[in-house]
Amino acid sequence: VVVTKGAYLTSAVKKEQYPEVKRPEFVFIGRSNVGKSSLINSLTRVTNLARVSRQPGKTQTINYFEVGLKIDGSEERTDFYLVDLPGYGYAKTGKENRKIWKKFIDEYLLNSESIQFVCQLIDIRHDPMQSDIDMFRWLVTNGLPVLVIATKTDKLSRSAAQKQIARMKQVLGVPELDILPYSSLKNEGRSELLDSIATSLIK
Ligand code: GDP
Repeated sequence: VVVTKGAYLTSAVKKEQYPEVKRPEFVFIGRSNVGKSSLINSLTRVTNLARVSRQPGKTQTINYFEVGLKIDGSEERTDFYLVDLPGYGYAKTGKENRKIWKKFIDEYLLNSESIQFVCQLIDIRHDPMQSDIDMFRWLVTNGLPVLVIATKTDKLSRSAAQKQIARMKQVLGVPELDILPYSSLKNEGRSELLDSIATSLIK
């Protein structure tokens, strides 16, 4: 699988601003600072596509990136949207903002008919926090397919990372859950994630 393009398309804060052209959507969500921008940049190999931000909680829009894949053995190029949702669980955002955030994210997640799966990013250095657990349960309850990605795996030794992944499954309450380890620094997990996207595109 080869990425043939990756470009910022548009941002939305309400339904009317979703892209007119419908394409399969792969959604990325996680707490602020979890490494979401870095992962999007590493996945598409476009530096600063999703700006690696130093101000957590600042991006409050749904950002659409148009990405193209050339799948091995296929002549066709497949275009999809990578959808970057604002980070959750940032204390400084405040209660009122959080409510607005939740409403507009929920609206998107419940109404977009193009979502293939939601990548929920969780930092491998910590146990999933309450906000992670709540988000995970909400996604599952609402029937959205979730791929949990453990980010920044390069920060732990291999054995510590394995242990922590087992912990994450336990804390999320799904012992048989598949968690994808990812390091944007080392591009670990990149080809696995692209394969998952490709598989779901050719289905
Ligand atoms: P976002 O707020 O979720 O978009 O997170 P960013 O992508 O801006 O990353 C937050 C911080 O974590 C930055 O300082 C990144 O350099 C760092 N970071 C992100 N991904 C990785 C990774 O895979 N490995 C390491 N070591 N650091 C990372």
